[in-house]
Amino acid sequence: MKPIHHFVDSLLDHSSTTRVSRQDFLQFTGRSLAVGAVGGALIGCEKKPETTSSSASTVNTPSGSVPKLPATSPPAEIPADQQKPIELEQIKAKTEQQEGDTPTPMPEDQRVGYALVGLGHLTLNQILPAFGTCKKSKVVALVSGSSEKMQKVAEQYGIKKESCYSYADYDKLKDNKEVQAIYIVLPNGMHAEYTIRGAQAGKHILCEKPMANTAAECEAMIDACKKADRKLMIAYRIQYEPHNRMVREMVQKAQFGKVKSIIANNGQNSDNPKHWRFNKALAGGGSLPDVGLYCLNTIRYVLGEEPTEVVGYVHSTPDDPRFKEVEEQVNWLMKFPSGVQASCATSYGHHDEKSYRVCAETGWIKMDPAFPYTGLKLETSQAQGKENQVVQHTIEQKDHFATEMDHFSECILENKIPFTPGEEGLQDQKIMEAIYQSAKEGKAIKLATVDKKDAFRGPEPKES
Ligand code: NAD
Repeated sequence: MKPIHHFVDSLLDHSSTTRVSRQDFLQFTGRSLAVGAVGGALIGCEKKPETTSSSASTVNTPSGSVPKLPATSPPAEIPADQQKPIELEQIKAKTEQQEGDTPTPMPEDQRVGYALVGLGHLTLNQILPAFGTCKKSKVVALVSGSSEKMQKVAEQYGIKKESCYSYADYDKLKDNKEVQAIYIVLPNGMHAEYTIRGAQAGKHILCEKPMANTAAECEAMIDACKKADRKLMIAYRIQYEPHNRMVREMVQKAQFGKVKSIIANNGQNSDNPKHWRFNKALAGGGSLPDVGLYCLNTIRYVLGEEPTEVVGYVHSTPDDPRFKEVEEQVNWLMKFPSGVQASCATSYGHHDEKSYRVCAETGWIKMDPAFPYTGLKLETSQAQGKENQVVQHTIEQKDHFATEMDHFSECILENKIPFTPGEEGLQDQKIMEAIYQSAKEGKAIKLATVDKKDAFRGPEPKES
């Protein structure tokens, strides 16, 4: 079978896909200040040419070049003067932590319009409020099974009555010219169907993680979006978040020498056996595809490498009504081509623990917590003479959902490939299936070797 990485290999001209520069990185993350002696010197200062964005009208894909976007699409380029921050006079000494750039929002009428599908916890508590800090994205439509709830939400966010749809009316989004993108925030088992129908309705798709329940569903989603000439992005917010981006930069620049091992855990005590998360058909699995996926996806992201072998163990407390259909706990090991070994754990049965640690030759990098929506903490350690210096890096927090949605909007506006396209979600799904297979068969499972770095990702995101 042809390895999937050939897709992105052919899709990206790696010679023109450049690493994020310090300037771009600081623009993306906001200014960072390391508390302690090692400080900002830990971050490399390599300069690179600007990332070459695709031309306004075409973009390279596996099948060649995609034709111009249809007439309903917004202008292909964001004007340069709109991307330039307004400079304010200095009010803080240069020795103090500096503010980030002033926001550069686009006017409402030029932003990408989103329809949100599913009005549950994530949509109401995180995604809808995030539009308040978006610069290129706006919410223009809702899809829900509860007309009463939808009406309330529509009133709160100023969404037109005629832009509220039931699931039965979902396909009518086709005729709503204000909607360019659909954000799917439904139970995992519904992602494939709503992605495929959404693409067939002519809309670009941002789909929550996990991408779907099976690799076959992921492939069908990719095919449907390709066929409809629409973009597909998986909502891996961690890959658009400043702290984790900084860890990736440290690792890729070998700030602490070669990485040897990574230990990661994402677990929580989940309740309510009646919730879809405990239903196999709707969830696909238990803790692994829900929270364990963060360990898997973040390690792949930080290393830019793909595992070649996995070993997994699955356990559920007998007679616990929550775990009749899905698993409670998964522990797994992953081997990477560079020699890095990763050890991961996930559970629905223990108190919140969301962290990882990268152990390298001359230091370690710790994210604890690493995966919540706010309050992320980054620490590094390195010997300095007789001392072991631990440095806490204080980075400006950014709304994960706003940066993620604005990246997707930018890809639509400038006709670029998303950093986390469908192929990225498919690769995670394949690895999760191998972990389950390993646990079932009691042996290590080998995966296709992928030589290229970041084989399944699009060009690095920038925040303009
Ligand atoms: P939720 O249960 O709070 O919301 C799901 C919504 O889907 C509800 O409004 C529910 O009414 C609706 N729905 C439609 N058909 C349904 C059906 N047949 N059964 C059950 N519900 C149905 O879930 P959530 O926490 O908002 O998660 C939604 C998606 O977002 C999931 O894919 C989840 O993995 C993902 N998620 C991502 C993050 C993140 O940080 N990126 C965080 C939480 C959830």
